[in-house]
Amino acid sequence: MKVARDGFRMLRREQLLHELVHDSYKSRHKLPEPTVCPKCGAVFHEGRWTWRSAPAGAHQHMCPACSRIEDDFPAGYVTLTGEFLHEHRDEITRVIKHCEATERSEHPLERIMAIEDIEKGLLVKTTDAHLARNIAERLHDAYKGALEFHYNKEDNLLRVLWSR
Ligand SMILES: [Zn+2]
Repeated sequence: MKVARDGFRMLRREQLLHELVHDSYKSRHKLPEPTVCPKCGAVFHEGRWTWRSAPAGAHQHMCPACSRIEDDFPAGYVTLTGEFLHEHRDEITRVIKHCEATERSEHPLERIMAIEDIEKGLLVKTTDAHLARNIAERLHDAYKGALEFHYNKEDNLLRVLWSR
């Protein structure tokens, strides 16, 4: 397997399913429970971040998603290009946002940080590699096109290219 100098490897979809690890931001601190994120209100409970309500007197610590947003350090990037994208930009943007809303309602750490216009199309930045993968899979399920995954396991960063 060829490893790029920046630590990214190109993976097939099936390989990615096996390789995608839990976010390093998640395990950096062992948090007391319950802990509430002062920024978004997510609550750390039984080893994971949830949307349950915080009990009075909960500890406070910023959740990994809010930390990434504050550090401007995305874990996932989805780059979208192509003629079809240009023609269906609004619809595709809605699909992406809907995918985020669904994932986020279950998994507080899966958020879109930004959807940016780039020269060749759109760039979606996410707080979690899983969300980047899910967005790309969702687009591929809906519209086909070409998918390419580049994964840096060391830092758990995922770059996905989708074009059609
Ligand atoms: Zn938070």
